[in-house]
Amino acid sequence: MAVTMLYRLKTDFRLSIITLLAISAILGISPFAVMRFAQGNVLAGVVDLSIMLAITAGMVYAWITGDTGRSGFAMALVACGGAVAVGAVVGEPGLFWLYPCLVTSFFLTEPRYAIFINLAAVLALMAHGVAFSSSVQMWSFAATAVVVSCCAYVFAHRNENQRARLEHLATIDPLTGVKNRRSMDQELAMAVASASRNGISYALVLLDIDYFKKINDEHGHNVGDNVLVEMVALIEQNIRKSDQLFRFGGEEFVLLMPGVDETGLRAVMHNLQHIMRKFLKHPGGQVTASFGVALFQSGESPDDWLARADDALYEAKDTGRDRIVYADDIVAQRG
Ligand code: GH3
Ligand code: MG
Ligand code: MG
Repeated sequence: MAVTMLYRLKTDFRLSIITLLAISAILGISPFAVMRFAQGNVLAGVVDLSIMLAITAGMVYAWITGDTGRSGFAMALVACGGAVAVGAVVGEPGLFWLYPCLVTSFFLTEPRYAIFINLAAVLALMAHGVAFSSSVQMWSFAATAVVVSCCAYVFAHRNENQRARLEHLATIDPLTGVKNRRSMDQELAMAVASASRNGISYALVLLDIDYFKKINDEHGHNVGDNVLVEMVALIEQNIRKSDQLFRFGGEEFVLLMPGVDETGLRAVMHNLQHIMRKFLKHPGGQVTASFGVALFQSGESPDDWLARADDALYEAKDTGRDRIVYADDIVAQRG
C-alpha cells in the first residue's frame, strides 16, 4: 500500500502537487482556525475549517478516483475562493493568503482555467472592498496580484509546451510520424486490460516489408525511407480512426484494431493487402509485405499475443512472402 502510494506520488505530478498543497494548507491554516475560535471570531474560524475540509475532500477524491483534472480544478477554486472569503471576513491580514493561492492555481489546473480563477478572485476582493484601507492600497494589491498571476501563467504555459514536446519525442517515430514501440507497449497493455474487462475483441497485425534490405542496397537508404513513409500514409488512409499503427522497429509495423470479428478482420486484411499491392511502389517496381495476424485470446499477456502474431508472420515469410497468415489457422493446421 505504502509502496503504491509512493509510486503514484512519484509518477503523477498533479497528484503530488494536490497532496503537497492539501497537507501544507491543513498545517498552515489550522493554527489560524484555532486562534480565530479562541478570539471568538466564529465566522472566520468556520471559513478556515470549511477550506480545510474542502481541500481534504479534494485530495481524497484525487487519490480514490485518480481524476486529478477535476479535483485540481475544484481545489484551485476552493483555494482562491477561500482566500477571498478570508479577506472579506478578517480584512487586510487575510489579503496575503491570496498570493500563494494565485501561484498554486497553476500547479493545480490548466493555465487557462487558473488565470480565469485568479482574475475572478482579485476582482471579487476589489468589488467587496472592505479589506482595503485606501484606494492606493487596493490598486497596489490588484497590480501585484496580476503580475504574480501573469508570471505564473507564462511559466506554466512554457512548462506545458515542454512537457508536450518531450512526450512527442518519447512516443513518436521521427521518420514516419506514427507511435513508436514504447507507446505500443502501453497501448497493448491497455488493450489487454480492456479486452478482459469489457470483452472487446482486438486484432494485432505484425507487418514486415519483403526484401527491404534489397531496396536499400539497390536504390539507397533514402528510397527505403520513402517507402516507409508512403506505406504508413497508405495504411493510415485505409484504417479506422480507432485503429492504431506503431513502428515496431526497422521495417516492421504493428497494427492494433479494436472491435473486429473474425470475418471483418479477414476482409480488412484482404483490402489492405490489395491496396498495398496496387499502390506501394519504389523505382525498381512493386513493394510487398508479409502479415502475421492474431486475435486476442482471453487470459494471454501482451507478450504471448505478440509472439503468436510473430509466429504467423514467420510462417508468412517462410511460405513465400506477400501473404497474410492468421495465428488461428496455424493452430488449426497443427491441431
Ligand atoms: P524479409 O523479406 O525477410 O523481411 O527481408 P528484409 O530484407 O526485409 O529483412 P531484413 O530484416 O534482413 O532487413 C531489414 C532492413 O531494413 C535492414 C535495414 O537496413 C533496413 N532498415 C531498418 N530501418 C530502416 C530505416 O529507418 N530506413 C531504411 N531505409 N532502412 C531501414
Ligand atoms: Mg524485418
Ligand atoms: Mg523485411
